Amino acid sequence: MPEAGTLRICALYPDLMNIYADRGNILLLERRCGWRGIGFELSSAGLGDALDPDAADLYYIGGGQDRDQKLCAFDLSEVKRDALHAAAARGAVILGVCGGYQLLGSAYQLRDEALPGAGLLEIVTVRGDGTRLIGNVAIEVELSPGDRRVLAGFENHGGRTNLGPTAAPLGRVLSGHGNNGIDGYEGVRAGSVIGTYMHGPLLPKNAWFADWLIETALGLEEPLAPLDDELEAAAHADARRAAGV
Ligand code: GLN
Repeated sequence: MPEAGTLRICALYPDLMNIYADRGNILLLERRCGWRGIGFELSSAGLGDALDPDAADLYYIGGGQDRDQKLCAFDLSEVKRDALHAAAARGAVILGVCGGYQLLGSAYQLRDEALPGAGLLEIVTVRGDGTRLIGNVAIEVELSPGDRRVLAGFENHGGRTNLGPTAAPLGRVLSGHGNNGIDGYEGVRAGSVIGTYMHGPLLPKNAWFADWLIETALGLEEPLAPLDDELEAAAHADARRAAGV
C-alpha cells in the first residue's frame, strides 16, 4: 500500500558543503522514501540563490572546510537567513552536519575572524589552535519522551561548539568527543532544527534516524512502515562497535 506524500529536500550549497558522505545521506532518504512509495524531490540552493521557505520539507546543509564555510556563512546570513527562519517556524526540518551545523548557530569564530551564522541554533563555535576532535562517536538521544536510542558515526572537527543557556543538546556522548570534548554533549536540537557533528555517513549508519527525519518533515502522525533493514542494522551495529558501544 503506497504511503501518501512527497518528501521535498533542498540541499544548501551542495557543491561546497558536502564532505564526508553528505550526498549519501540524501541518497538514503531518497531510497527509503522510494521503497515505501513516497515521492521524492531534490532541489538545491547555492551562493546567491534566494530560498523559498515553503518549497521544501527538509533543508540539508553538510560538512565543509573552513575556507568554503566562509563563503557560505556570509551568503547564509545575508541571503537565506530569513527564509530559513520562516521554514523552521512552519516546522520544516533543517539538518546541519558538522560544518553545516556550525553555520546554523550564531557565530563561528575562526582564529582571526568571526563568521556569521544563520542564528537558528543557540550555539557559538570557536576554532582554536587545539587538536582536531576526530574519531568514532556514539551518543544517546531521546527524540520522543522515553524513547532512548543510539546514533553512531564519525566526527572530525577543529571547531568547538558551546551551547547557550537555553539550548538543548541532541544527545549525550557515550563515546567520542561531541561538541567540544568537555561537556559531554553532542549536537543541538531546537524543535525540527537539528545540528550534529556526526557524519561519516550519518544516515546509512542510523536508518532509524533517517525515518524519524522523514516522519517529522512530512508531519506524519503514524510511524513509517518498517522495511527489511538487515543490512542497515548491520551497518548500525558496526558503527557502534567501532565506537566501542
Ligand atoms: N571546518 C570545520 C571544522 O573543522 C567543519 C569540519 C567538517 O565539516 N568536517 O571544525
